[in-house]
Amino acid sequence: MSTQQHPRFPSYEFSLPPWVEDCLPGPGHTFATVEERMDLVIRLAHINCERQTGGPFGAAIFNLESSTLVAPGVNTVIPSRCSLAHAEMVALALAQQVSRNHDLGGPGMPRMQLVTSTEPCAMCLGAVPWSGVRSLVCGAREEDARDAGFDEGDKPAHWTSALEARGIDVLRDVKRKEANNVLRAYLGSGGDLYNGGGGSGRAVGRTVPPGCGSG
Ligand SMILES: [Zn+2]
Repeated sequence: MSTQQHPRFPSYEFSLPPWVEDCLPGPGHTFATVEERMDLVIRLAHINCERQTGGPFGAAIFNLESSTLVAPGVNTVIPSRCSLAHAEMVALALAQQVSRNHDLGGPGMPRMQLVTSTEPCAMCLGAVPWSGVRSLVCGAREEDARDAGFDEGDKPAHWTSALEARGIDVLRDVKRKEANNVLRAYLGSGGDLYNGGGGSGRAVGRTVPPGCGSG
């Protein structure tokens, strides 16, 4: 019997661009308000565009008992060659690794909050209840993302009340204008659109393509 030295399929790891660490305050820094938390994820979204390490989306998980950062996330779809790598998914995956728990709402866990620079797309919305976070805070609206060329996917019309029925608080429009400015800047800069279903292009002088995932 031979031992297989090289697996047939590669592994995949959610990871952050190296610059992210330099943009974060030290461990233990408190983010007392939702506005401060939103400022961080908007800054991550903005720098992610500037450094060309992904799309114009930032997110982070916060511990609501200590008001501290658990894990940040930025969109890395194109560089990591993975359509799952939306900012929210990266932040959730890293927060679960930091917490050594697949369930951020599990027994003994502090209440956790997902803060995202743009409202979650259909994929990230689906991930929210399974993640165990108890609170969702959003900056730009999904229509802002659509106006910039990104597709939010097929979401239930009453997604906020559906989350709240599961005990997850939803707060929208926190620094919406500032968050939308990052999307508009990306639109103006000709940033890559990472479309699903074969669509692709640049964000300047184009019509909005179908299947362009946001987040
Ligand atoms: Zn998403």
